[in-house]
Formats: sequence, structure tokens, C-alpha cells
Amino acid sequence: MKKVLTTCTYCGCGCNFYLQVRDGEVVGVYPSKKHPISQGILCVKGWNVHEFINHPARLKTPLVKKNGALVPVGWDEALSVVGEKLNTIRRQTGPDSLGFLSSAKCTNEENYLMMKLARAACGTNNVDHCARLCHASTVAGLALAFGSGAMTNSINEVEDCDVLLITGSNTTEQHPATGNRIIRAYDKGAKIIIADPREIPLAKYAALHMRQRPGTDIALFNGMMKVIVDENLLDKEYIEMRTEGFEEFRKVLARYPLEQVEKITNVPAADIKKAARLYASSKKASIIYSMGITQHTTGTDNVLTLANLVLLTGHVGFPHTGINPLRGQNNVQGACDMGALPNVLSGYQAWANEELRKKFEKAWAIEKLPDKMGLTVVEMINAAAKGELKALYIMGENPMLSDPNITHVEEGLRKLEFLVVQDIFLTETAQLADVVLPGTSFAEKDGTFTNTERRVQRIRKSVDPVGQSLPDWQILQKIAKLLGYKMDYGSPAKIMEEIASVTPIYGGIFYDRLEEFGLQWPCPKREHPGTKFLHREAFSRGKGKFSPIDHLPPAEETDREYPFTLTTGRMYFHFHTGTMTRKTSQLHREHPEGFVEVNPADAKELGIRSGCFVKVITRRGSINIRAQVSTIVPGKTIFIPFHFREAAANILTNDALDPKSKIPEFKVCAAKVEVSQ
Ligand code: SF4
Repeated sequence: MKKVLTTCTYCGCGCNFYLQVRDGEVVGVYPSKKHPISQGILCVKGWNVHEFINHPARLKTPLVKKNGALVPVGWDEALSVVGEKLNTIRRQTGPDSLGFLSSAKCTNEENYLMMKLARAACGTNNVDHCARLCHASTVAGLALAFGSGAMTNSINEVEDCDVLLITGSNTTEQHPATGNRIIRAYDKGAKIIIADPREIPLAKYAALHMRQRPGTDIALFNGMMKVIVDENLLDKEYIEMRTEGFEEFRKVLARYPLEQVEKITNVPAADIKKAARLYASSKKASIIYSMGITQHTTGTDNVLTLANLVLLTGHVGFPHTGINPLRGQNNVQGACDMGALPNVLSGYQAWANEELRKKFEKAWAIEKLPDKMGLTVVEMINAAAKGELKALYIMGENPMLSDPNITHVEEGLRKLEFLVVQDIFLTETAQLADVVLPGTSFAEKDGTFTNTERRVQRIRKSVDPVGQSLPDWQILQKIAKLLGYKMDYGSPAKIMEEIASVTPIYGGIFYDRLEEFGLQWPCPKREHPGTKFLHREAFSRGKGKFSPIDHLPPAEETDREYPFTLTTGRMYFHFHTGTMTRKTSQLHREHPEGFVEVNPADAKELGIRSGCFVKVITRRGSINIRAQVSTIVPGKTIFIPFHFREAAANILTNDALDPKSKIPEFKVCAAKVEVSQ
């Protein structure tokens, strides 16, 4: 049996394992013992990652819609349809009538090519990907506060922290390898503070669990900071030497006396005091957060509030501290790093900066980069619904399950003149496409993924692509050629050489240096060892910036008609839109269908029993779903995982956007619950 070392394709922890290959087929998996993250351990998704690779439903040929049905065709026919349609639309209505959705599941090299395809080959900045839906507010908020929008410290540092403040992250279910380090820290005596409305599994390890009302994070953390300032627990020397904007920020805190914060958040004032004292009094205190913080209309402000907290206490720029956003998908960090975003080129180099634009124009041998700001994911869907966006090219994303307000998404996608989907399965989105192009899974190609701690790691080809499918980077080269732009890289390693040449934070990253455990960016030069934690002596922007931030209510508040707060998320056995995990027998067996968590008091009032079907209704639609009566959710709050198409949570969610980062408010909307007839 052949064994091939590679990187997990599920969450952003970036575990490494060996795929076991027999007779050209992946038949098993076992963890790398030496790898710093996996350390011989995988979660249930990692242990079963081989199964979907061989699933009979994998796309094996291109498909073209004829007489309303998708039929298998050869590559030549599919590509000629794509080329003709994209060129015609571009000629008739201009390059900005086309949009490109890149993929957090694909490699860095493929994301780089996708953004180059949009900008250099097509001539539009309309390129984005699902980071818009999970951590756009992290990228925007941390860039404003520190100059760099990524996890400041490393996963293994968690284990030796003395205090961990975990908020909006169900870490043991969503990022199991990081959850494992949190439990190890607890075993070594660390104090865990959880700020989360749900009683997540980590709550049983917590010294303190604050169950704030969904959408009240700013008030909660401003309350904590008021205690820190009032009790003189702040780090004055650090504030003076390394930050700016403190005095203006400080004035805001006067508006957050604890009685007021308790009213807004529902968290007892004594708990807020205890949390503030615990967090501020330890030198090795770290914040871990995820989408419970980011997916709000105040997402960027939530992140800025946490940034204020670390600046106030001097808890950033040292080992075992920092502010650590956990990125959901295997390569969502890398897709951002590669500039698959409408406002930046690779390495977060602002597209609006003329000098930087010139650098890329020269490197890409083009006369001019597009000079109009591009659209984000939700804006592209809105533009499609209005008939302004005519064509969309989607690689490895499934907006028909992952985006908010799916009914509106479907309306937008159906209104397009031309939809191309490149994927490994016929997803809910691919079913609406005019042309479907079969890409390959992580097991059938070479490349790199960047995990949540900025570690750029190799994936390695273990088996040949199934049927006629092709590695996505090869498909993108063909599409570029159709649009009249030559892309001719012999291998992903060659693409990485170009990335390194134009992207300072990846400047020292080459395949021959990634063989063992990868490298953490910033890694500006070939001889640079990579960076474990950021902002050691100075912030990327010079001084850390305080921002005065006030609490704002969510876009949609509960009322008499819609008395419940609906919040959504993920679960341990499934991943994202379930495209891979629901085709994995063991994972499907454990959780074959969706559910809604309802608090026992609410269930009693409504006459709901565990296992019965209920109808959950919001202003955007309704779903029938099985109830799970549970104290995991507080009263008047309901929770639905978004993996299941039969009870798609995103039919219900609100597509209201954070004005600063354009992230939608997945985490809070008003709902009602009725017993199904
Ligand atoms: Fe894969 Fe994440 Fe599980 Fe590790 S923790 S095996 S990276 S899903």
C-alpha cells in the first residue's frame, strides 16, 4: 500500500495525515504523529476523509444544459460553450457584468489563478469567496486595529495559556484539534472563560460561562473593559508605547455601567467583573473567537471591540496571548491571502494603491488592471437578481446552501444569462448551472493550503483524477486562454513561485521549503524561518489602534409576531453544506438530518416534544424540521445547523450586511416556531 502525506480538506486547523492508496484508490487514512497540529490525532471527519473521494456521485465529465437538462459532454464542447458565452457577455455588457466566486476548499495556487483570471483575463474586480460569509469582518477589523487580519498566535501556544477567553466559537466541534489544545490547557490549570449564548461542550470546563443575548457582544466586552479601566487593571506602559487612540476610546466606556450592560446582555454584573479580572490579571491570556463574533451587522465592530480588549491589557505581541480568529474551511485563510477578494490583490495589497497596481500590471504583462471596485458575494447575488450581473463563474462553492436568504439567492442565480459551476459533486448550486466543469478533490492534485494559524502546507497528489475531471488550476488556465489571456504554468510549484514574487508575506515560500511542516507567514525571504506570532515589536500598521465602538442592536429584533432569536452554526459530524460529509457513511449515520434546538421552557409552552416536527418561520421563509428539546439553548433562542438541504437554515437567515465588511447577519434574526400539522 502506498502512503501519501497530505493536509486535511475540512477545517482550518490543518491536520496532516497519510492517505493510504491501494490499486489506484484511496482506501484509508491515518494521522501524522510528527505534525505539530495533528500529533497522531484526528477528529471524526479527518478519520473518514477518504470515503467521499471514491463516491459514485463524483462528477466525471463536463455537463452542458440542453433542453433544460444537464447532459454529459466532452471538454472541447463544454469549453467552447463557456468561451463563447463569457466573451459575448463581456463584449456586449462589459467585464463588470461578469462575476467570479473563488473557493476556500481549493488550493492557494488555484485561488491566485482565479483572482488573476477575473482581474487580468476578464478585466473585473468582481471576485470574492465564502470568507465574505465567515470572516470578512475579521479581515476588515484586525487590519484596521493592527494592520493584519489573521490569527496573531499559533494553535500550539493555546496549550500553555493561563486564561482563555473563548467567544462565538464552538471549538471542540468546529475546530477539534484546537479544541483539544484548550482541554490540554485546562488540564494544566488554565482558567477558561466562555462567552456564548449556547451551552457548548467546552462550557463544562469553564471557570465562567457568560450566556449573552445574541447580538450583544460589544456591550458585554465594553462592560469588561470598563471594569478593567475602573480597577486599574490596564497595561499603561503598553498603551503608551504601542497604541494610539486610547483617550477617545476610553470616553465610550463611560456609557457602559455594569447595570446597563446586564440589562442589554442578560449577563450578571458579577460575572462580567469576574471575567474582566481573570482576563486582565494574567500575562498569558488569549482570546479565541469565530463566527459567533463575525457574522453580525456589527461584525467588524465586534472584532474591533475584541482588539480594544487585547490592546488595553497588553495581550498581543507575545507568545500565549493574542486575538485568534479560527478560520472555518481548510483554505479560507489562503483564499484571502491570495486576494480572492474584491478590494485587495494577493497578500492584502490594496488594489486602490496605484503603485501596487503597476507592480501587478508589470508582473502579469497587462496594460491596465480594472479601475472599478468589485462586488462582494451577496452584492453579486443582488446584482444578478436585478439583471445587472449577467454571468457568474463559481468554483467550489455552494451558495444555494451557504448564503443567507436562499430564496433570493435562487432568484438571482436563475436570472443570470450564464452560470458556470466548477465542482466535484453536482451540488444544489451546480444543478442550476448552464455548464458544470468537473474539478478534482484534494487527493487528486498538488498544491498548498494555508491553515488558520497562517501555516502554508502541501497537499500531494495521491491518485489520478476520476473520469475526465481535471485539477482546478488546469481548468482555470484553459478558461483564461478562452478569454484571450495566456496562463501556462507547468505545475502548482511554478504558480507558487509567481505568488512569492508579487506577495511580500509569501516572499520566502517555495515548495522545497514546505516538505516537512510548512511555513507560517509572514515569511518574506527564502532564508526567513516563518512567524509563530505576529506584532512582536510593532504592529503591521505601526501602533495598535483603539477604536471607540458602541453597541448597536441586530438588524432584526424579536417582536410579538417573531418572538424567538434564531441563530445558526455547524456541528461536529458535518461540514459546511454537507457536500462531502453527507456522502460519508459514518458521518451520515450519526446525524442524517437537521434539527432545531428549543429550550425546555419554550417547548412546554408550545407543546413541543423532542423528535416531533415543527415549522420555523422568519420573514424570508419557513422550513419543517425535527425539534430537539435541550438546555443547550437559552429561553427564547433557537439554533439550527446549516448543513442540511432538506431543512436549510439559510432559507430563514437574514441577508442584512455589516456596512464595513459586507458580511451577512447569519447569527441573529427573528423567528417563530409552530408545531407542524
Ligand atoms: Fe481535519 Fe480539522 Fe478534524 Fe484536523 S480537526 S482532522 S483539520 S477536520
